[in-house]
Amino acid sequence: MRRMPTPAFDPERFRREARAVVDWIADYWRTLEPRPVRSQVAPGDVRAQLPPHAPNEPEPLSAVLADLDRVIVPGLTHWQHPAFFAYFPASTSGPSILGELLAAGLGVQGMLWSTSPACTELETHVLDWLRELLGLPERFASSGVGGGVIHDSASSGLLCALVAARERATHLQSNRHGLAQTERPLVAYASAAAHSSFDKGARIAGLGDAWARRIAVDARGRMDPGALAAAMDADLAAGRVPCFVCATVGTTASGAIDPVPEIAAVVARHGAWLHVDAAWAGAAALCPELRPPLVAGAEAADSWGFNPHKWLLVNFDCHALWVADRTWLVQALATRPDYLRNAATDSGGVVDYAEWQVPLGRRFRALKLWLTLRMLGAEAIRGRIRAHVAWAGEFASWVAADPRFELLAQPSLSLVCFGLRAGDAASRRLLDRLNAGGTAFLSQATVGDRFALRLAVGAALTERRHVEAVWAEFSRLAAEAAQSA
Ligand SMILES: *Cc1c(COP(=O)(O)O)cnc(C)c1O
Repeated sequence: MRRMPTPAFDPERFRREARAVVDWIADYWRTLEPRPVRSQVAPGDVRAQLPPHAPNEPEPLSAVLADLDRVIVPGLTHWQHPAFFAYFPASTSGPSILGELLAAGLGVQGMLWSTSPACTELETHVLDWLRELLGLPERFASSGVGGGVIHDSASSGLLCALVAARERATHLQSNRHGLAQTERPLVAYASAAAHSSFDKGARIAGLGDAWARRIAVDARGRMDPGALAAAMDADLAAGRVPCFVCATVGTTASGAIDPVPEIAAVVARHGAWLHVDAAWAGAAALCPELRPPLVAGAEAADSWGFNPHKWLLVNFDCHALWVADRTWLVQALATRPDYLRNAATDSGGVVDYAEWQVPLGRRFRALKLWLTLRMLGAEAIRGRIRAHVAWAGEFASWVAADPRFELLAQPSLSLVCFGLRAGDAASRRLLDRLNAGGTAFLSQATVGDRFALRLAVGAALTERRHVEAVWAEFSRLAAEAAQSA
């Protein structure tokens, strides 16, 4: 009997169709600039153009690509657009996408060392490279009791660090794993400007909002170590266990950098776990001249994480997390059912990354980091980061020199928070008008008690002229608003 071709897994068909998809992507990049940065569709517009039921019969790729152009692309906000300055960048690069494609093509599950040894070892190795490139302390190297792991997101990294901290704190009181609350509640701390993933992590880890404390910040958005010490001391005196402190290097609103060395001294007095969330800013530690404030105090941290998927030209998702002592993470998350039993795990001589994360299965994410670092080289990545920082600095100087505008926070790396001196309502209207124009896209933040426009430079395609153009547009719109007022 003749073997039927398997359309789902036919190498020759894939070769042909993959080329068409790669061409489609290359054309998309080439034609990004004239498109409106932000999607213009209304809720429901996209679904209204999709058939109500899934097809029974196969359709050709050409039909799908036609719908991609017709239905999907108009419903996109173009995160890779050179004038995308909102939130934080979700940067990507050709090599990273090729790594993603290879990961999908190989289709391996790297949950255990034994389920695909190269998947685990490449990840360990590339994170050792990255640790060295960022100038992070030796204690995070895999050669000791620490090491790195790739998570999907900074939120997952924080959750796992918190669960490891919980394990360490409760281990001292009982030998039952995974215990969130004993008679003495565990308490976690982060600054008022820390990311919302802190609250989410505390809820999931069973501490809850009640025992997730937000610590006051100074005028520049940095955690006040004195207020942290007071809160931890008060909790201890009340019979609670100060368990986990998350310091932020580069807050989401304004890029503020917590004083990690001072925080570490407070944390050490309580024997609590210190986690550093450097999700966005961490990438800049690749540049030695930008590094010192970003890694200060890291030698006292129990865990340190950042998102290569934000500013390191690696596509989403890729969060790098290092722990100084993997014991607690593994003790908290290892379950070791019979059906996964294998000689390598039993030997104790390998890393099983399923024990460092929430899901069991895991993708071969190290490939995209490996291809990005190898095919671009660290120096080219540094060059992009330096350019972004320099252009943001120029933008900040234009803001500062214009009497209509003011800086609302000290510029941080490639992030500038600013507003109109005419007040928050005027700033809000200005942002709405700029975004409605479609030539650029920015988001907002609350800085102090002010409404701030927030320019985050970091898309791989951004050039200086795009930063100049968005300033010219702000200037024009501000003049127009003054005229009509
Ligand atoms: C972006 C960001 C996060 C959350 O990142 P995810 O990877 O999307 O979970 C956490 N902390 C900070 C400081 C961030 O900027």
